[in-house]
Amino acid sequence: MVSRVIPVDPFDLVVFGGTGDLAQRKIIPGLYRRFLAGQIPPESTIIGAARSEMDDAGFQQLSREAIAEFVAKDKQEPEAIDAFVARLGYVAIDAKGEGGWDALKKRMREGVVRAFYLSVAPSLFGDIAERLHQYKITDPDSRIVVEKPFGRDLESARALNKVLAQHFDEAQIYRIDHYLGKETVQNLMAVRFANILFEPLWKSEYVDHVQITVAETVSVEGRGAYYDRAGAMRDMVQNHMMQLLCLIAMEPPYHFDPDAVRDEKLKVIRALDPVEPDDIVRGQYLAGNGQNSYLQDAENPASKTESYIAMKVNISNWRWKGTPFYLRTGKRLRARESEIAITFREPPHSIFDDAEGWRENVLVIRLQPNEGMDLMVMIKEPGPGGMRLAQVPLDMSFAEALGEEGADIPDAYERLIMDVIRGNQTLFMRGDEVEAAWAWTDPIIHGWEQRGEKPKSYDAGSSGPEDALMLMHRDGRRWREIRE
Ligand code: NAD
Repeated sequence: MVSRVIPVDPFDLVVFGGTGDLAQRKIIPGLYRRFLAGQIPPESTIIGAARSEMDDAGFQQLSREAIAEFVAKDKQEPEAIDAFVARLGYVAIDAKGEGGWDALKKRMREGVVRAFYLSVAPSLFGDIAERLHQYKITDPDSRIVVEKPFGRDLESARALNKVLAQHFDEAQIYRIDHYLGKETVQNLMAVRFANILFEPLWKSEYVDHVQITVAETVSVEGRGAYYDRAGAMRDMVQNHMMQLLCLIAMEPPYHFDPDAVRDEKLKVIRALDPVEPDDIVRGQYLAGNGQNSYLQDAENPASKTESYIAMKVNISNWRWKGTPFYLRTGKRLRARESEIAITFREPPHSIFDDAEGWRENVLVIRLQPNEGMDLMVMIKEPGPGGMRLAQVPLDMSFAEALGEEGADIPDAYERLIMDVIRGNQTLFMRGDEVEAAWAWTDPIIHGWEQRGEKPKSYDAGSSGPEDALMLMHRDGRRWREIRE
């Protein structure tokens, strides 16, 4: 299968925080890869803007080093790198000061798309939005891209929305949740809405439950202080996992159009039931294999922040009433694995005697590693011995199915930045969506705080606290194994 690369319009992209970790690890390497793929017109420019004093050559050198470190060796083509870095410039700006803004304005060209990527702390969003406006650097078609975390509760998210809304229309604001840029996550929509096969079964009548797992092996080391103020609920559930749940649970939008899709996601969030304390298990990893415990990494021996969470979520609408969604995510688990598993109900009547061999049909959508899908189906166990049943996977790895192109799936950030330039907001969170997610999350977090709840411990390299198993067992279900 040959993938089509459709070039975007020429643009001026300003990356605030251009010297920072995210910009150097993801944004610049991602832009280079799109340039190499022929998607970025050569007359486009990318301008780093940050506090450090530096000239264009300095930023170009920094970006060369980022490409050398973070782009696969077989994609490092010297001529393409030279041509790409020649498009890079730099302006020293303190978001809270007045210097540099006129210089930035002079770099902006007429007749090209202008985008401003705020790869800086959210506390600077207001200052930057304000000065972009004050120095007349934006035009009515300009886009502003903001990184997570988008607030830490409903109140702060509202404040951020308000600050952005003072100078930008909602149609100009791109709130990044990089999970939505993942190939497989978008594929959820293709699988659901481009096939007739699944839709008739996609409801509580046929779906017993859904499991969404995002397991990580890494610790919070290096960002312990930030993480300790957030925890798994704010860092993963409120945004990434909520988005996955929405894509699985939402009604078909009337069109694949940004607002149509986001309207449907919003309806799901609004239909989420409050979560009972008994339906949540929180955990903190212990020390192990020569590595720190969560409390050591967070440098806070009294921390009550969770590095793991498992929860049962109910959706009160016609489609899903009676089908729980079980979510779990955590650090320092057995393996790095993200998947969504949709477990179907039993057939109404079995004509076979071999009840033991019977297992549920499960549709597994693997987000990582090895992006793809498995459909677990029952077949006759081969060979003699009568009609014995066995469960086998119909396995589709995208990399295998799509050949070389499948193995060369663009990184989420690359895709999302190209969507910003195209002006397509489908894969970005709308302001009301983010607020609705916080409105659901806030009472859960307040409940823990009020009760002073401390997370359970779990062994590093395990699949989480024991209590999380019980969350499923008591419903007569079990988690899928996190495989090494
Ligand atoms: P960082 O600390 O590595 O970089 C911050 C950047 O902001 C630097 O370029 C710095 O010069 C610039 N900066 C700081 N204060 C400034 C000021 N007053 N004026 C102008 N520039 C200023 O941070 P990061 O890890 O790159 O993260 C940037 C943002 O992206 C944060 O909001 C973070 O939460 C978010 N984020 C980061 C990651 C990641 O993987 N690093 C992932 C998701 C979201």
